[in-house]
Amino acid sequence: MNNIMNLFSLTGKSAIVTGANTGLGQGISIALAAAGAHVFGVARRSCDETQEKINEINGMFTEVIADLSDISAIDKIINEVSSKTDRIDILVNNAGVIKRCDAIDVTPDDWDLVTNLNEKMVFFLSQAVAKQWIADKKGGKIINIASMLSYQGGIRVPAYTSSKSAVAGLTKALANEWAAFNINVNAIAPGYMATNNTTQLRNDNNRNDDILARIPAGRWGTPQDMYGAAIFLASEASSYMNGFTIAVDGGWLAR
Ligand code: NAP
Repeated sequence: MNNIMNLFSLTGKSAIVTGANTGLGQGISIALAAAGAHVFGVARRSCDETQEKINEINGMFTEVIADLSDISAIDKIINEVSSKTDRIDILVNNAGVIKRCDAIDVTPDDWDLVTNLNEKMVFFLSQAVAKQWIADKKGGKIINIASMLSYQGGIRVPAYTSSKSAVAGLTKALANEWAAFNINVNAIAPGYMATNNTTQLRNDNNRNDDILARIPAGRWGTPQDMYGAAIFLASEASSYMNGFTIAVDGGWLAR
């Protein structure tokens, strides 16, 4: 091999990243675009900021506006992306929502809001792209975004914990069925990252101090911390990885 770094190149690939307008989805979009992919960022509101950051690195980014709370959005997403690229190669199921509330007070509507996006959409969007990949026999890469709460119980987030534990299980279940079709299904479990998802936690001084004291790296993670794992799992470098969840957590799980 002339250049080992070619293993990580995404040149000529197209990637769908959900929740691309902010936070970790924005970071993952920038990383995949920097590695050469044309990123189709799905979001329910404008991805202007992501577009700007990707323009700055001369990357390719196209926004796809869709509300992912209901799986009826899937056809629109697949049709819109397919009209602009020959082939989808990579899917990153990043969009997710968290509702903080005592378990005793959780309503069925809150439960559905969290699990429909974090779990049901992850499965059916993956199924939609896998149908194309199995039909064209070329395979592809699915990256799910799991959580520390794929391993732990968490506090006051039962629907979220349930959904993220499901994501880790689903990652293994789909890998088992689809590895034979050259489809790699893996996940990234971010630790405690500074995004909108954790604003409430970071604004609570006691919780903020407790969390920081438990992270061996001694700091909150950032969207940039996702770059390496995202490029690795989207690229040929991870072709013999199936059903695994990589923690990007500053050592949280090692404690
Ligand atoms: P974030 O800043 O809140 O981003 C969540 C993304 O999901 C946003 O783009 C959001 O769009 C999108 N989204 C939510 N509901 C949607 C809907 N109905 N339709 C379309 N898009 C929707 O949080 P984040 O930290 O970057 O989260 C990204 C992923 O990482 C999530 O799956 C989250 O659970 C996971 N995660 C985060 C952490 C952390 O510490 N931050 C840790 C572990 C796992 P809007 O901006 O329009 O709401």
